[in-house]
Amino acid sequence: MIQTAVPSPAMTILAVGAHPDDIEIGAAGLLEKARELGCRRWILILTDDAPHRDTRRAEAVESAKRLGVPPDQVLFAGLRDGHLRADGDSVSAIRALASEHGVDPDLVVAHSAADSHNDHVEAGRLARAAFREAALLHFAVHLSVEDGAFFPDIFVGLAPPRGDRKRKALGCFVSQAERIERRSLAEFEERLGRVAGLGRAEGFEFGGRAMTGEMSARILALSDSPFHRFWAPVMALGPATLIGQTEGDDGRPDIRSCEAVDRLRRAFFDRWVPSYPLWESHAVSPGAWKALSEGSVVLFGPVQNHPVIAKLIEDERPAWAAFPGRAGSSESAVVTMENPHCDGALIVVATGTDSAAAVRALESITEPVGDPHPDMLVREANRSSAVQCP
Ligand SMILES: [Zn+2]
Repeated sequence: MIQTAVPSPAMTILAVGAHPDDIEIGAAGLLEKARELGCRRWILILTDDAPHRDTRRAEAVESAKRLGVPPDQVLFAGLRDGHLRADGDSVSAIRALASEHGVDPDLVVAHSAADSHNDHVEAGRLARAAFREAALLHFAVHLSVEDGAFFPDIFVGLAPPRGDRKRKALGCFVSQAERIERRSLAEFEERLGRVAGLGRAEGFEFGGRAMTGEMSARILALSDSPFHRFWAPVMALGPATLIGQTEGDDGRPDIRSCEAVDRLRRAFFDRWVPSYPLWESHAVSPGAWKALSEGSVVLFGPVQNHPVIAKLIEDERPAWAAFPGRAGSSESAVVTMENPHCDGALIVVATGTDSAAAVRALESITEPVGDPHPDMLVREANRSSAVQCP
């Protein structure tokens, strides 16, 4: 909807799993999505189950092949199953192995800390320590994930053919089939999918250090959830504040506006687990101005009734200052722009020439799934050139 300059999503991704099959369980869909985007992909399996080493390595290589990762891009660190430690020796060994194969990942995908298996937790820590310059996403293994502690930000859908490819890859782990089926992977993927507004899905937590704008745009390109793609950059620094002006054009409370805000609240409750990252303030409250200097804000209301929007137009003169459009018509606008009062934060403006138009704008970012409303005027954040989307 809002058009931003998305850099080429192609990057080098290294998936790190404690055991063969962990990566396929938690991140095969992401590896498939990365293939669709033209990313270079590597797989690193940290431990060997000594008596079954050859069988399990062979299964892992075959599975990787089905995901389009060739055998020479599947690395085995040979550490001891059940005794993984994120210590100096292991970090050095992993770095040496990566360097020997010329692997310098932009993005590392490794285990979440929300896991009851000691090897999984250590694998996540080890990946983070070994590749400190890379961005990090954490995946979950349904068998040992700690429900209520895994908080995904990025979602990759598993609709066919991607989901089918994941099943086929997992089917290679014949020696582990019984163990993998101890808990329903399908049920776990359905649960993640519901959060994202998708069918079955995989979920990934952001980890590691703060990402640059370019890197976060590349990572968001992996996500299939329109809601999260729209809102994740806004929430990058922490909760955003909704600064609403819910009075109608006659100055009385406007029920339509309130319903639209309720829908936005519900969407955040349902799709942002577990913390609810939307604070609220009213446009005429002193808190509104404080929020503007502290982080990202969402400004909602009719343009002429909203003092913060009015001030923003006066101070910043963004492209959409020319906003009130055709005489006698009602127009809506959604704009995302940098927050001039807080470094790194964004301002999302959902507004209109009257209440009904502002409500349409807010609804479009509550469910940013379909095409914009035909009347919706969407301009790019770039202050030098306004772009009207089709
Ligand atoms: Zn495992």
